[in-house]
Amino acid sequence: MHESSGHPISEKTHIIEFRNVSFRYPGQKAWALHNINLTLHSGEKLSIVGENGSGKTTFVKLLTRLYDVTEGKILLDGRDIRSINLDEYRGLFSAVFQDFKLFSFTLRENVELDQNLSDEEVVSYLEQAGLQEKINRLPNGISTQVNREFDEHGFEPSGGEAQKIALARALARSAPVVILDEPTAALDPRAEYDLYMRFAKLTEGKSAVFISHRLSSSQFCDHIAVFSNGRIIEYGTHEELVERNGIYSELYTLQAQFYDR
Ligand code: ADP
Repeated sequence: MHESSGHPISEKTHIIEFRNVSFRYPGQKAWALHNINLTLHSGEKLSIVGENGSGKTTFVKLLTRLYDVTEGKILLDGRDIRSINLDEYRGLFSAVFQDFKLFSFTLRENVELDQNLSDEEVVSYLEQAGLQEKINRLPNGISTQVNREFDEHGFEPSGGEAQKIALARALARSAPVVILDEPTAALDPRAEYDLYMRFAKLTEGKSAVFISHRLSSSQFCDHIAVFSNGRIIEYGTHEELVERNGIYSELYTLQAQFYDR
């Protein structure tokens, strides 16, 4: 099935380790990431927070091997990911990126992409993502066209609904590591918090990486890494970081109005 070279991946649970990783974009002098050390254990939920430009997206690009490190190593179960079959490695991840695309196909096709899923499976993923009521109200259910480009009766999703379709798509891929990359363009803080909480519940037992410049995912993640200028400046559990009285604690106090119940 995989024509490219490299070692196959065997075990079912995985540990991913960034070891002294630094990265510069091609042709750039400045480091986008500098000496990152971080381990993601199997089933762990990791929250990556930091201002725009702090290196969060670059971290995900290296993690998913869209780019290779400039210095240091990323290890999967102790093995440098550059020596692993690329298709198999990328198959570990399912990502909802900032710039995900919804296609002018049916809702079903937007969820399953190149897979063959039953109606029940497609509906179940959409329901888990929080679109149950919406599907019930659509004239053709999951066969409804997304966008009105080709169908005047198509379903024009709001920003939040589009995120939920992308979430259903990520769940349908059933990869062991799921990444949710900052849906903030579409969502207000409260909606982002709700989406991340839903996502954390849905990915129980899987590893998951939550990216945001807000602290939406901080409380229900096992660890939080605070990025600043391409470095990890704070790392720990929510409680540890609140106690530390550093940047995280300051941001948390500022943003608490959105997350307090
Ligand atoms: P974040 O996701 O936290 O907003 P990024 O990882 O996108 O931050 O960016 C980290 C740094 O890398 C920034 O200084 C940004 O300007 C730079 N950068 C991001 N993408 C590119 C690129 N394609 N080429 C050159 N520099 C980039």
